[in-house]
Amino acid sequence: MSAVCQCRLAFALWTLCAALAAALPGCASTTRTTTAAQQPAPTDSERRGDGYYLASCAACGGLLGTTGPAVTVLYQGREVIVCDQRCRAAFEAALPDAMARLDQVMIADQKPLYPTSFSIVSNRSLPDDATEFIWMNRLIRVCDADEQSTFLANPKVFIQKLDRAVIDYRLPRYDIDKCLVQGVELDEDSAVNVVVANRLLRVCCGDCAARVRNMPRSRIPNVDFAWARVMRDEPH
Ligand SMILES: [Zn+2]
Ligand SMILES: [Zn+2]
Repeated sequence: MSAVCQCRLAFALWTLCAALAAALPGCASTTRTTTAAQQPAPTDSERRGDGYYLASCAACGGLLGTTGPAVTVLYQGREVIVCDQRCRAAFEAALPDAMARLDQVMIADQKPLYPTSFSIVSNRSLPDDATEFIWMNRLIRVCDADEQSTFLANPKVFIQKLDRAVIDYRLPRYDIDKCLVQGVELDEDSAVNVVVANRLLRVCCGDCAARVRNMPRSRIPNVDFAWARVMRDEPH
């Protein structure tokens, strides 16, 4: 599937989610609910967690970069990227619903990629109605609301565990032998594993790792294309 197709798919999902959310006010109940008091506001603090990794604008769903340089905003450390200041204003005027819609797009995108059927908090098997939420652009799946609270109290520890699970799941199936940034052959001894949005991205050095973390959306299509090929060929 081409990047453009994926973008259209993401936007279609987005539109669907928005329609569903409008029709069924309770349907987003598995995501973290945000009260007016906790409403995310733009902050100048450092980015936490994964960078914004979608190719599409968080506000209008259009392909980023087509109307000029995209605008990056942090909401309590969460990175969000939009087309321009108009989209930023539209996004902020629609908070917190706009963030909940973005969460739904990311859940739909990352759920099929989730690396484990166990909770990273309790190691228990995830139930069918697992609690799912986005933390700093990353899908987290846990057994219930109590585990969600445990995660939120100490996200760094659990994100490390999830990163490990992604690497364990993906590394044996990773079939790109070149650095995603420089295109040089990967040296197994010095290759760096970067995890973004429940994907593994491999690069040749720490500098390239920093570049991927700062702008994952430019490399995600490569790994998604390769992953789709591996999944297609893997016996089920
Ligand atoms: Zn836009
Ligand atoms: Zn490098």
